[in-house]
Amino acid sequence: MINDRLQRSLDYLRISLTDRCNYRCTYCMPKDIFDHDHRFLQKNQLLSFEEIISFVQILSRFHLKKIRLTGGEPLLRRNIEALISSLKNDVGIENLSLTTNGSLLDYDKCRLLKQNGLDAITISLDSLRDSTNSMLNPYSNVKKVIDSIYTVIDVFGFVKINVVVMAGVNSNQILEIIEKFKNFNIEIRFIEFMDVGETNQWNLKKVFSSKLIIDEVKRGYELLELPYEKGSTAQKWKLVNYPAHIGTISSITQPFCNSCSRARLSANGIFYTCLFASHGYDVLSKLREHEDHDQVGREIETIWKNRVDQYSLDRLSNKIKIQKYSKIEMSYIGG
Ligand code: SAM
Ligand code: SF4
Ligand code: SF4
Repeated sequence: MINDRLQRSLDYLRISLTDRCNYRCTYCMPKDIFDHDHRFLQKNQLLSFEEIISFVQILSRFHLKKIRLTGGEPLLRRNIEALISSLKNDVGIENLSLTTNGSLLDYDKCRLLKQNGLDAITISLDSLRDSTNSMLNPYSNVKKVIDSIYTVIDVFGFVKINVVVMAGVNSNQILEIIEKFKNFNIEIRFIEFMDVGETNQWNLKKVFSSKLIIDEVKRGYELLELPYEKGSTAQKWKLVNYPAHIGTISSITQPFCNSCSRARLSANGIFYTCLFASHGYDVLSKLREHEDHDQVGREIETIWKNRVDQYSLDRLSNKIKIQKYSKIEMSYIGG
């Protein structure tokens, strides 16, 4: 294991498999910017599955335990099940999960992902109403996403859903989302709108805080707070009398940098030590220049041991000026 300068180990990698997506959520890939003129990465600019596996093998010497496949929309990568199988069965990653917008999942695909070694799926769904979704996420199909949620429960026995809550947009719909899913083995994670990237017009007034979220939930349900799990981004509650759990991810109002053990590998093969980083280590070039893997491992070790990232804590204490800070888009760096 290796620890950074704040005693956080490197045990979790999130991999963005592509910067492309068939959706255009306003908080992630606003459609006026990610339009037909936008230059997405070309195939040879993406890490191949073999390159991803080589890099994960390099990291596994540091006891990497957990990987999440994300994007962009990860299910746009053809034959993703082959990657899943190698990561699980050849490299031996203990906990392998995927975050998806749910638009490309059906029963057969879900079964295939599970059979190849995927442990869990998270699906993003911000509202049950077509009218709200057309504002937040113009190309989404709510019915299809809800069907995918039920399919994942059927195949995996459990699902997490991510709900980005934006003040005045879907913040009045928290109870109806819980009402819909409260009887299932599900964790509904309400996420504060984050200032990732440069294009989503973030401002503090659009953030609906976790405290307000939980106040809203308590208007309809009794909650039992669960102990904090070290390294988790979420604070969790059990809904009393129902199987469902609630989580909040408070990157803005209660940052969890102190226990952040997450590294990121972007779609174009850059290794980042923070979601809000502005530069990283070019894995793709190193691998294509046939750099010795032990040497890459030593360089990653040095980078991690010098890591001091705590962007969200610094934002909260006003140590950084958000406008002056150049950040990578969510779809590149991996949400
Ligand atoms: N396309 C997939 C999906 O939407 O689930 C995976 C990638 S997406 C970037 C991963 C997660 O990041 C989603 O749950 C999405 O809601 C969340 N996300 C994207 N932009 C965000 C933002 N600005 N603030 C908070 N969460 C965000
Ligand atoms: Fe696509 Fe996911 Fe970003 Fe929405 S949040 S635009 S679905 S990558
Ligand atoms: Fe981790 Fe960076 Fe987020 Fe803090 S701001 S929790 S260090 S990714």
